[in-house]
Amino acid sequence: MAQYELTWDLDSIFKGGSTSPELQTYIGKFEANLTELKELVDAFAPPDSPEKVQDLSLSLELLDSATKQLREIGAFASCLTAQDITDHDAKIVSGKRSELGAAFASVMAKLDQKFLQVEDAVWEGMLEQPSLEPLAFVLNERRAQAKEKLPLEQEILINDLSVNGYAAWNQMYASLVGKMSIEHIEDGKVKKLSMGQAANRLSTPDRKARKEVSGKISAAWQEDADLFAETLNNLAGFRLQTYKHRGWDNVLKEPLELNRMSEKTLDTMWEAIAGQKAPFIQYLRRKAELLGLEKLEWHDVNAPLTKSTQQVTYDEAAAFILEQFGKFSPKMAEFSKMAFEKRWIEAEDRAGKRPGGFCTSFPDSEQTRIFMTFSGSATNISTLAHELGHAYHQHVMNDTEALNQRYAMNVAETASTFAEMVVSDAAVKNASSDEEKIALLEDKIKRSIAFFMNIHSRFLFEKRFYEERKSGAVSVERLNELAVEAQKEAYAEELAGYSPTFWASTLHFHITGVPFYNFPYTFGYLFSQGIYAKAQEAEGVFEESYNALLRDTGRMTVEGLAQKHLGVDLEDAAFWEDAIAVCVKDVEEFLKLTEVAVK
Ligand SMILES: [Zn+2]
Repeated sequence: MAQYELTWDLDSIFKGGSTSPELQTYIGKFEANLTELKELVDAFAPPDSPEKVQDLSLSLELLDSATKQLREIGAFASCLTAQDITDHDAKIVSGKRSELGAAFASVMAKLDQKFLQVEDAVWEGMLEQPSLEPLAFVLNERRAQAKEKLPLEQEILINDLSVNGYAAWNQMYASLVGKMSIEHIEDGKVKKLSMGQAANRLSTPDRKARKEVSGKISAAWQEDADLFAETLNNLAGFRLQTYKHRGWDNVLKEPLELNRMSEKTLDTMWEAIAGQKAPFIQYLRRKAELLGLEKLEWHDVNAPLTKSTQQVTYDEAAAFILEQFGKFSPKMAEFSKMAFEKRWIEAEDRAGKRPGGFCTSFPDSEQTRIFMTFSGSATNISTLAHELGHAYHQHVMNDTEALNQRYAMNVAETASTFAEMVVSDAAVKNASSDEEKIALLEDKIKRSIAFFMNIHSRFLFEKRFYEERKSGAVSVERLNELAVEAQKEAYAEELAGYSPTFWASTLHFHITGVPFYNFPYTFGYLFSQGIYAKAQEAEGVFEESYNALLRDTGRMTVEGLAQKHLGVDLEDAAFWEDAIAVCVKDVEEFLKLTEVAVK
């Protein structure tokens, strides 16, 4: 009999699924809380002396519980919509969550404006008071950011107009992509494939089929390129216009602030990567040789070399993960065991589930839930480990204030990537044959290629595009040119062909929630490599400093975090070079193992 169940338990949070009466009562409680908070914020008068923190402390206490409640509702909504895509009541819950979120955001914006009314000297003194001191970083950050924005009424106007004038371009993009398809012959029949389905076909080992699909994909994007040039130019135009009114000249200002990192850190990271491409170029060359090619085409980069056939059961995967986690951190292993036992994981392979995986937190009940579909592959084990890493991150933050639990995307992937690395490294070591080992190693190297080359090209493209967009709309021809230039630079001109329509096919350039949705990926990947390198050096004592680092991710800059917990300077190339060196080791082993094959 199986040890762990494959379905999760949501009833222990709110009984009754998408029509749960318990959930409705809870939403009512949140709304009452929010009304009270709004009244407090409206009545808040800037104090004239630092000791008068009572009003603010009271607001922040309410804010703390409201924040946790809102996240609790949001997490429940995402679990409901993911587990059954046909559940209409779940969509209603999800809609309600958006409505509550908007109301909450406007109260927060008002509070930020109130912060501005407090005089600098009084403000500084207030943050030294015992009740506010633990929140000093986050409160200072909010105040500083509010200072650089336009007056509240203007920001509200921008926000309101952006629904139809900014976010709408992203929706338009999604609608256009949804209508696109290509025709492809499979098993003797003509099949109509969506762009997502077509992209999945690019991982087939059959090169002829890959080339054919890839050609059709490019043609489809090229055909509608004029439409996508409009959506992208207008979306970017709105963003730049907003920046202009706020007096922001640097397009990286907002994304850097969101990720709490300096431009120097970002530049140093990319420079270190640019200087360390040689081993990855060797990998690309070896892969071309193994596939019998002179050079790889764009659509060969992610092609499989071997077919890994190793299949494991869910219980075997769980046992393997718990064993490997235990070697680095008994606490992480213990926590993960509890997650399996208490059914915090939805892993069943069934129809009607949303694709992909995620981890979501219920900060009020101090629980998490993991969503994925487990079919027994090595990738599934990595995904499971990855999501458990996210869950553990939340777990160690449970007893901190809600305002201190918000961490940016670049550090959000730290615990997850770390957990994934522990498990995938062990899988390579335990591989039963060379073929299996090559497949597992390649899986790891592909991630490095994605972060050091693909994401690098996205960053280069996006930065240059935004610079040119400042002086007017950028034509399709120029967008194609910018895309290929960025790819050539990022892949060190090592490929035989590139993707000119990459700017149209990459969803991330068209999202409005977060600007520059690219470099935080690479940061998170390398940051956790750096931590992993430290963990291997410092056996035994590692666990405590790792937990302390995770706990601080919501209340420090990344530079401060690295300095305090790793004793390293992120603005210095050495840290990045060491982290890249960890990835280079995989390439070296891969080159050694595949040497015989090409001789
Ligand atoms: Zn993740």
